[in-house]
Amino acid sequence: MNLLLILKSKCPQCRKNNIFSSKGNLLLFQIPLMNDTCKKCNFKFEKEPGFFFGAMFVSYALAVAEFIGVFVMSYFIFGLSLLVSFFTIVLSAILLSTLNYKVSRTIWIYLFFNSKVKV
Ligand SMILES: [Zn+2]
Repeated sequence: MNLLLILKSKCPQCRKNNIFSSKGNLLLFQIPLMNDTCKKCNFKFEKEPGFFFGAMFVSYALAVAEFIGVFVMSYFIFGLSLLVSFFTIVLSAILLSTLNYKVSRTIWIYLFFNSKVKV
């Protein structure tokens, strides 16, 4: 897996086109929109209905890792109080939500693209 391709949400097959057609807007409560297939190589992103159910668990793991990172930074490095650290975590959860959505789905696509198990 190429970390940069995942962060940029590129198609796993041709590695050129984007998986998502829009970035989404946090202020307008819009989630990023996904293309059904790759415009360049016709790779189908959603293998079957409910394919992205598992991406929820990837998203959970990402969020927990981010919360731990934010907590360590705010509490231990910047020396903020527990309450302020908590609100920093809440703020980071909101700000990183669209990124988590995109990255978790991309990781899920890449997991099944590289494995031998065909879905
Ligand atoms: Zn492609």
